[in-house]
Amino acid sequence: MSDQAFVTIKNAAKSYGTLEVLKDINLTVQRGQIVAIIGPSGSGKSTLLRAINELDPLSSGEVWLEDVQINKTLPHRQYEAHVNQVRQDIGMVFQHFNLFPHLTVRGNITLAPRMLKGLSEADANKLAEEQLAKVGLSDKIDEYPSRLSGGQKQRVAIARALAMKPKVMLFDEATSALDPELVEEVNLVMKQLAEEHMTMIIVTHEMDFAASVCDRVLFMDQGVVVEEGPPSVIFQNPENERTRNFLRKHL
Ligand code: ADP
Ligand code: MG
Repeated sequence: MSDQAFVTIKNAAKSYGTLEVLKDINLTVQRGQIVAIIGPSGSGKSTLLRAINELDPLSSGEVWLEDVQINKTLPHRQYEAHVNQVRQDIGMVFQHFNLFPHLTVRGNITLAPRMLKGLSEADANKLAEEQLAKVGLSDKIDEYPSRLSGGQKQRVAIARALAMKPKVMLFDEATSALDPELVEEVNLVMKQLAEEHMTMIIVTHEMDFAASVCDRVLFMDQGVVVEEGPPSVIFQNPENERTRNFLRKHL
């Protein structure tokens, strides 16, 4: 595996009016690496994740995926085309699933491959079947999201993201909205992706999961990365008082 940075965030800053939500964040993720972002509510974790695929563009700084700058300044038309292109490489899974309620599972998974990649119906169906098998939901292909449990919805959301064959997967508290008994089935799918060396950036409140799956952990507070390191250090021997305080409440 190469040491070359795969995702690079340089001097990232973001403000909403006078509120500085991200302050000079720097982060590099290598291909196949799995990075957890932890931190209190409001610390900027979602904003950082959403900056990676331009859902919440940075106020300043740079985001790169391999040798492509994602947050390029371009004339409007070109910018739209550029963003649509780069987003194909970045899968995102949200806390609240964000499935299209009027489409079946098949429809949810095949939509982007058909619309954005121009896949035929047959090829898109095949892809949907493959991805659903991976998340253990082959039998739900013709169901509507409303008929699925939260855990099943989230696994469909993951399958939908994977169907675009992304280079990196972003997870924003993918299990926070789930009943406790449904968390494990989603974690298992994420663990499986980890074993396949999918590059992942995972915002999570689940410290055990982060410790068992991630190569690196970033602790964010008030818009800065306070501390980062391997899980063994961050969870067992953090240097910073803010990290220790947070973990005292969450471990
Ligand atoms: P986290 O995911 O760590 O809980 P967020 O990234 O969601 O934190 O939010 C960081 C800060 O930015 C919070 O203070 C939040 O209220 C603020 N914020 C997020 N989105 C917006 C927005 N669209 N407009 C104004 N403030 C926002
Ligand atoms: Mg958040």
